[in-house]
Amino acid sequence: MSYTRVGVVTGANKGIGFAIVRNLALQYPNSPLNNGPLLIYLTARDSSRGQEALRRLQDDSQLKQAKALTRDGGLAEIKYHALDIAHSTSIASFAEYLKNTHGDGVDFVINNAAIAMQGFDANVVKTTLGCNYYGTLEASSTFLPRLKESGRLVNLASMSGRLSQYSDGIRDEFLASKTVSDVTKLMEAFASAVEAGNEKKQGWPSAAYAVSKSGVISMTRAVAAAEKAKGSKVLINSCCPGWVQTDMTKGRGAKTPDEGAQTAVMLALEDIMQRTGLFWQNERPIHW
Ligand code: NDP
Repeated sequence: MSYTRVGVVTGANKGIGFAIVRNLALQYPNSPLNNGPLLIYLTARDSSRGQEALRRLQDDSQLKQAKALTRDGGLAEIKYHALDIAHSTSIASFAEYLKNTHGDGVDFVINNAAIAMQGFDANVVKTTLGCNYYGTLEASSTFLPRLKESGRLVNLASMSGRLSQYSDGIRDEFLASKTVSDVTKLMEAFASAVEAGNEKKQGWPSAAYAVSKSGVISMTRAVAAAEKAKGSKVLINSCCPGWVQTDMTKGRGAKTPDEGAQTAVMLALEDIMQRTGLFWQNERPIHW
């Protein structure tokens, strides 16, 4: 089978990532970008959870009814591939696979994978930033060269990364961060402040997940600006899915996973009028 489009979703074995894959398959036929079969890589860090998710999608009654999958005469095929964004070797090996398998490039990458840990101490901060900030950054910079000229990169952030939770000084530093290295320095400053036990005094919240998501929003803006300055047409945005009923929220939340998936799916499949470097929620750019 040959595909005219190829997309990747990280952390897709459950929750919003799983719903993103499902909704990509359902919505692609009506996308203005539809120009032939779409291959979606459902990636997961654990192979049995990833394969099980693939099986659930193959048995999904709505996908069957819509004849969304190629085996039912539709346009989408879903394959599982291993990817752990907290491990450089895993990211590099999937990037190499994409290079060898899809030499023409990939149309979109949706960086959805993240963790939210209980408690707050220097280790929680290290592990949370390691996955949510450094892992998403590494996936972004490693997969970017694999994107087609008109490709899309979508990073799942969160409103919990809003700037209003910081002191004026730290908020201004986020706003002044124009490069990835500026943003990474802020993440390092937060980790050092927690290590020293004085993050509150320095104007940070005692919240690893929230700071990691501010990092994702800020880093996405910086990567988009750098690409634009090079003349690249790739569109790079971050989004908040809203408060969604998943394991991360222990089933609480106002939105179903399908509803939470919509903004990310739109940023990958719709005409977004060349907008890049923005933070989105409810399918609209919003103020950070
Ligand atoms: P879940 O905890 O339900 O799912 C997270 C997914 O990420 C799982 O598939 C998990 O895999 C995967 N994952 C975690 N670490 C890694 C890793 N190192 N490499 C690859 N995959 C990994 O979360 P949600 O679906 O709720 O969240 C999805 C995204 O949306 C996240 O970025 C989250 O921060 C964001 N978000 C969610 C909100 C909500 O209300 N739910 C609100 C705002 C933002 P495994 O099963 O192996 O653990």
